[in-house]
Parts: sequence; C-alpha cells; structure tokens
Amino acid sequence: MVYDARGPRVNVQFGLFPIVKHVHVSYDASMTLLIIVAAGAAGAFWWCLFEYVLHRWAFHELRGWGIGSREHLNHHVTSGWRFDAMILLAWLGVVLTGVGWGWAAGAVVSPAAGIGFGVGWIAGYFFYEYHHAMAHLRAPRNRWERWLRIHHFHHHFGHPLSNHGVTIPLWDHVFGTYEAPGVVSVPRRLAMVWLVDDNGEVRPEFAADYRLVGAATTDERQAGIDRARAFANLEPLP
Ligand SMILES: [Zn+2]
Ligand SMILES: [Zn+2]
Repeated sequence: MVYDARGPRVNVQFGLFPIVKHVHVSYDASMTLLIIVAAGAAGAFWWCLFEYVLHRWAFHELRGWGIGSREHLNHHVTSGWRFDAMILLAWLGVVLTGVGWGWAAGAVVSPAAGIGFGVGWIAGYFFYEYHHAMAHLRAPRNRWERWLRIHHFHHHFGHPLSNHGVTIPLWDHVFGTYEAPGVVSVPRRLAMVWLVDDNGEVRPEFAADYRLVGAATTDERQAGIDRARAFANLEPLP
C-alpha cells in the first residue's frame, strides 16, 4: 500500500504483468460516490422542473388533447386517485426518459454522473407520484404534507391553472402561477375521504384549512358539468 496526495494506492499485479494503472481506493471511491449523490440531486431537481412543465403545459394547457392531458383532466373530474394500467404506462415513460437523461449526462459529464442523474430523475418522479397519491388518499402527517395538500387542493378546487408544482412551490413562483390558498372550499361530492368525519363534516383538525360546500350526492347531469369544467380548466362548482 502506497500513499500519495490522493490517498491510499494499490498496485495490482497479475502473474508477470503488473497493471500499471494504480487503483486509488479511498479517493476515487469517495469522489465517485460524491458525483453520484450530487448528480442524483441534480436529476431530482430536473424532474421537479418537469413536474411543473408537464402538469401545466402538457396536461392542462392541452385541454384533453393527447393521452397524458386526458388522463390528468379525468383525475380532476373526480379528484380521486386509484391505480390503473395508465399509471404503469407513465412509470414506464419516466423510467425510459430517466435512462435517456442518464445516458446524456453520462456522455457529457461522466458515467457516474449519468447513473446519478438518471436515478435522481426517476426517484424524483416516484417521490412526486407517491406524495400526490397520498395527498388524495390519506391525512397529512407533518407540516410539509399539510402544506402539500392545501397547495394541491387549491389547484383542484380553487384554480386549476395555479399551483402546478405538487412537491415544491418554486416553479409556480418562478412562472407566476403561485396562489396562496387561504381556506380551500371543497365540493362535498368530491371531498377526500380523510377530510370528512362520519357525519359528513370536515374533521375538526382540518377545519382551519378546508370548508365543505354543496351537496354530497351527484347525478349524471352534475357529473357531466364536472367533466366539462375540468376539461376547460375551471374549478368544480359547489
Ligand atoms: Zn391531484
Ligand atoms: Zn392538475
């Protein structure tokens, strides 16, 4: 073992043929790890921008044109979340684009950066996907989850062309679509299960953030109106 400015060095020898290239164990390994972690953070941040860009321009501005926009606006019609085959398609698309971004970053920077960037992009997406689903399905468990839900349900029930970012508000501030929600008015027929108690009222712990409006029941006519308004990027009426 030899030490130099870059740390411990191992000279490897196979039979009569020494491998001339030294393996700088600790320095190289820690540098590679650092590059992967930094590139991973950059990849996740890059996803974050796309979380905004896709949601605003590819989903809402296209008003139902194309599969992504149609699926997303259908999500607005009911404001529910459930697993279906289309989600698998989205996951596949995100994983493949992650591989593409990783390949590009690998070509421009280094293989380690490529791996980190691609994995960071995919991880960023799944972080978003998980928290978006949970926002619809279960009550908040901390301050950030509370914020995320108020921010996102203002997007659903207050103004669908605001608050496109789900996990962070940064890009809404940058592109001028941020709106402070205030108390979110939720139509009873579209209310999240975790928001409502057995009597159909807002649970006391959420009363400062949400109020229920309109009737709890719906019919074909109301469903048609909800659909038309969602596809026109308008909030559902009480
Ligand atoms: Zn949603
Ligand atoms: Zn939306």
